[in-house]
Amino acid sequence: MDSSSRPWKQGKTKDLFLTEDPQVLRLCFRDAASAYGGLIRGEVPGKGSVNNRVSDHLMRYLEAEGIPTQYLKELDERNTLVRRLDMLPLEVIVRNLAAGSLTERLGLKEGTRLGRVVLEFNYKSDELDDPLVNEYHITTMGWATAEELDIIDDVAMRVNGLLTALFDRVDIELVDFKLEFGRRPDGTLALGNEISPDSCRLWDKRTGEKLDKDVFTLSRDMARDAYLEVARRLLGD
Ligand code: C5P
Repeated sequence: MDSSSRPWKQGKTKDLFLTEDPQVLRLCFRDAASAYGGLIRGEVPGKGSVNNRVSDHLMRYLEAEGIPTQYLKELDERNTLVRRLDMLPLEVIVRNLAAGSLTERLGLKEGTRLGRVVLEFNYKSDELDDPLVNEYHITTMGWATAEELDIIDDVAMRVNGLLTALFDRVDIELVDFKLEFGRRPDGTLALGNEISPDSCRLWDKRTGEKLDKDVFTLSRDMARDAYLEVARRLLGD
C-alpha cells in the first residue's frame, strides 16, 4: 500500500491515493455522506466499508461478464486498488423507474415504470450543479466522441440488464443508477468511480422500502441500516 497519507484527490465521500505504480491508484471509501450536491453532509458509520465491498463485488461481477472496469484488487474493508483512468467529465444516468430529478423535471409520479430504459448525461461540475446535457453538448465540448457515446450507450444498457438481474435475485428493484467512464491508456472505455447504494436507487421489492442514499436525508441510523441490508443481501454478511 502507498505510504503517503495525503490524498492525491479528495472527493465528498472517497479519496484517491497515488501508489508506486503510476497506472494504479488506491481508492479509499470514507463514512462521509453527502446529499443535494454537498448541501447536506454527515457521517454514516460503516458506510465506507459497505460501499467499498459492494462496489468491488459489482465491479468484479461486471468484469466477469465482459464489461471493462477500473477494479484491480480489494485491499481491506475500505481500500481498493484501481486502474488509473482518464475520466470523462460525465455522469451517465440509467433509469428504469421514475424517481429523483426525473420526477421533478417531468412531473411524473415516483415509481412510474418507464416504457423504455432512459439514459441521461450530466456534465460533472460542482459550480454548475452537474447540469443535464445531451449528445450535441458532449461532442461539441469534446467531453467524449460520438463513437465513445455509442459504446457508452451499449455498455450502460448491458450493465443495466446485468445489475437488474443480480439485484432481482435478492429482491431489490434497481430503480436507477449512475455510471462514470474513463479511458484506459489504449483508449478502451472502462467503468470508474463506484457502484454502490450511494450511486443507485435500490428499493426493497417486498416492502417498497428505500435501501439507498435517499434514506440519508431522513435519518443517519436508517441510512446505516439500509446500507447494511444491501451488503447482507448481496454479500451474505
Ligand atoms: O438525482 P437523480 O434522480 O438525477 O439521480 C439519478 C441516479 O443517479 C440516482 O441513482 C443517484 O443516486 C445517482 N446519482 C449519483 N451521483 C450524482 C447524481 C446522481 O450517484 N451526482
